[in-house]
Amino acid sequence: MIVMKFGGTSIEDVPSVERVVRIVASRLEECPVVVNSAMGKTTRNLLEIARASADGMDEMALSHLDEIREYHVDMARGLIKDFDNNDAGTILEEYFEELRELLGGISILRELTPRNQDRILSYGELVATTIIACALREYGINARWLDARDLIITNEAFTMATPLNDITFRGIRKKVRPLVSSGYVPVIQGFIGSTRSGTTTTLGFEGSDFTAALVGAALDVSGIQIWKDVNGIMTADPRVFAGARTVRDISFDEASELTFSGAKVLHPGTIEPARRKNIPVNIYNSRHPDAGGTTITAHAKTCDGIVKSIAYNMPVSIVNIVPASHADPAGFLRSVFDVLERKSIMPCAIASTVTGAAIAVGASGEMDHVADEMGHFGSVSVVDGKATVSLVGENIRTTGGFAPLVFRNLEDIDIYMVSQGASPISLTFVVNTEDVPMVIARLHGVFFKDPDPDMPD
Ligand code: ASP
Ligand code: MG
Repeated sequence: MIVMKFGGTSIEDVPSVERVVRIVASRLEECPVVVNSAMGKTTRNLLEIARASADGMDEMALSHLDEIREYHVDMARGLIKDFDNNDAGTILEEYFEELRELLGGISILRELTPRNQDRILSYGELVATTIIACALREYGINARWLDARDLIITNEAFTMATPLNDITFRGIRKKVRPLVSSGYVPVIQGFIGSTRSGTTTTLGFEGSDFTAALVGAALDVSGIQIWKDVNGIMTADPRVFAGARTVRDISFDEASELTFSGAKVLHPGTIEPARRKNIPVNIYNSRHPDAGGTTITAHAKTCDGIVKSIAYNMPVSIVNIVPASHADPAGFLRSVFDVLERKSIMPCAIASTVTGAAIAVGASGEMDHVADEMGHFGSVSVVDGKATVSLVGENIRTTGGFAPLVFRNLEDIDIYMVSQGASPISLTFVVNTEDVPMVIARLHGVFFKDPDPDMPD
């Protein structure tokens, strides 16, 4: 059994869905379970109309909702030959009617609660899976639509819910495995789940990868395949550095370090369920299904180079806190972390001594509150316009003189903070945002000078 996850740009129009259908068809022997996110930019569009409704712009919201409806209905028409006599049309219309009612409620209340936001966003996945399941059936594949809200049971942290593993795993095993054994291809929404009492939740943006990993771990599949529109994990972000190449093999530790360092290719939660069950995760390109992609395993074949990939996080602010003179140093750090925890802010890098702490944090609406709260136990200054750059690779562990080698090549660049040793497989430092492309290009030149023969581009 395998899990195959497709989302966003891999299912944005008729040709891309047809491509996905052919990819699933080519792997039927492996007994796939399909996980889909919303189509194209649907999640973002739904969020915009929900916000517009809360701002009282209901006319505009409804007309945009109609565009979203048309986009999906046109797509379904393009994929289903006898669309007018297919249930899909009715199901889609019902979903859009529900959305219309929800938006109406929001515009009356003039408030978009996290709970309502999750409810609205869930329709992106619900309509997408309805269409994909039909498209698979058109192709002769025995697809069976399932509601992820019966399977992925979460806590009540709307917009960022955490799945409750035991009940979720049990449910998936009980409801999905028998279908696969009877020859069905289950089609499940990524990203969405439900509380124990049946209220819709979401797992955070890009959460469909996470769903795929959960489903895969619950079913003990032989592989979790994440199909994207890029060739896999790259040595650097190709939008910033055109010479980036695909990383062929990477370890769970390296991949997880990369997702937390800003690499956008996978949702950060994806690795953990796979690692626990030791299931390989493959990232493939749905536009080039035969290209090798990236394989993430426990013990990836080490490459000759020291670094596997360079990631960055941008924009980042540095919060400097100097403790009030009477503060005791241990209590001071505890207070700093308390504030971060309460505001659910995960720092990208931390440096601290007895005389103060510097914390690099990603862009967050909570920044002003954080500075205010920290002001209670020290003097705080915030510097914006920064970025973290992280070099990640298992070989960093065993390479002497790694940091000097990095910084020798960046002598003319302002470095604001360095965080090394917190993880043995990465080095993170803070630079000005405008220096990021140059820093990455230069380090790429140093660490990927001789392409690894196992790393095709
Ligand atoms: N559709 C959701 C989002 O855009 C989930 C996902 O794509 O993974 O974030
Ligand atoms: Mg997506």
